[in-house]
Amino acid sequence: MDEELSLNGKILHTDYAKADAYNALSMPVYNSAAYEFETAEQMELAFTGKVADHTYSRITNPTVEYFEERVKAISGAYSVTALNSGMAAISNTIINIAQTGSNIVTSRHLFGNTYSFFTSTMAAFGVETRFCDLTNADEVEAQIDENTCAVFLEIITNPQMEVVDLKSISSICKQKGVPLIADTTIVPFCAFNAQEFGVDIEIVSSTKYISGGATSLGGLILDYGNFDWIASPKLHSTAKEFGKAAFTAKLRKEIHRNLGAYMTPQVAYMQTLGLETLSLRYEKSTKTCLEFVNRVEKLPAVESVNYTGLPTNKYYELSKKQFGEYPGAMFTFDLASREACFSFMNKLKLIKRATNLFDNKTLAIHPASTIFGTFTSEVKKLMTVSEKTIRISVGLEEVNDLITDFEQALK
Ligand SMILES: *Cc1c(COP(=O)(O)O)cnc(C)c1O
Repeated sequence: MDEELSLNGKILHTDYAKADAYNALSMPVYNSAAYEFETAEQMELAFTGKVADHTYSRITNPTVEYFEERVKAISGAYSVTALNSGMAAISNTIINIAQTGSNIVTSRHLFGNTYSFFTSTMAAFGVETRFCDLTNADEVEAQIDENTCAVFLEIITNPQMEVVDLKSISSICKQKGVPLIADTTIVPFCAFNAQEFGVDIEIVSSTKYISGGATSLGGLILDYGNFDWIASPKLHSTAKEFGKAAFTAKLRKEIHRNLGAYMTPQVAYMQTLGLETLSLRYEKSTKTCLEFVNRVEKLPAVESVNYTGLPTNKYYELSKKQFGEYPGAMFTFDLASREACFSFMNKLKLIKRATNLFDNKTLAIHPASTIFGTFTSEVKKLMTVSEKTIRISVGLEEVNDLITDFEQALK
């Protein structure tokens, strides 16, 4: 494939691994659990990894592999692994690098299930989570020790909308020999080049932008192949054999096949189509989002609006440097009270009361009572999740439709 192609060109014209028997123009859905071999010898070569061939669809599948290849083509990643949810991508990544006694350095400003995965699921296996302020480089440096398996962050946190200076954090990580793992779900690869900012492992919930309008759940792990895993206690011996490919080798040869959360071919088909319109939808929804935010800010009942694309936002300059003029299609705003939020939510006519992000429809949610609804008020306070905040994910409607709904719901 031509290296000089545009992003959309690369997505649309990624070659198939093998010519299709019927010259199908869309990658067919290979709905098969297993694959037949002509000889026992060929079977041995495939099962022992000496020849790259499909053996069983929990491990690889042609339709899923094609989706992975497309993501590889546009991101420049060394390897891409598709899983059946964003949480599967996060859990597989962490289990791949952490062992009893390891610690993860991160912030309390985390997606709710990631927070719970770290503090409950991984804690039960003796993996410690060290929370700090990731916007304070000294604090991050002080938390890292020889048992730190990763610094984990979200590029724009939700619902706090905090932005970390990636170059500064990645230079600390490099100096300390610790990989930087970033959840980039909020700004996908069509608008943000994670590798350029020193991210070693990128995680995406493809349920969001990539699925093409909430069609399906999915997750992606992108390994840029830049990190030297010899310093990692868990991957040390794998790194002796595989060098910088150690993360992917451990993942694909052990963790991912043993946990069994590979993407299914039907989902890969839908998300491959989603990729084809990704930048188109991203451009439209983020432009609408910025325009919408500017108008929401002027509504009298709105106490404050939080969107890093606003010049008045404290992260504006950093956000612009890292994510461009339109940093995603999600924002939050505050009303006077929890009651005012509920009343607003209940009066919405067009905007849907639903969780999820980057559906083609605009969605509203009150995070404190839903995503964080089972967290104690103490934890919510530590996570800076306010009872007065509503989160909006902007879809593909015109801005006038949205503002009309807001105005009537705030009456
Ligand atoms: C939704 C989301 C996840 C989890 O993804 P699922 O596909 O729902 O498992 C992780 N991180 C962020 C930032 C998300 O928005």
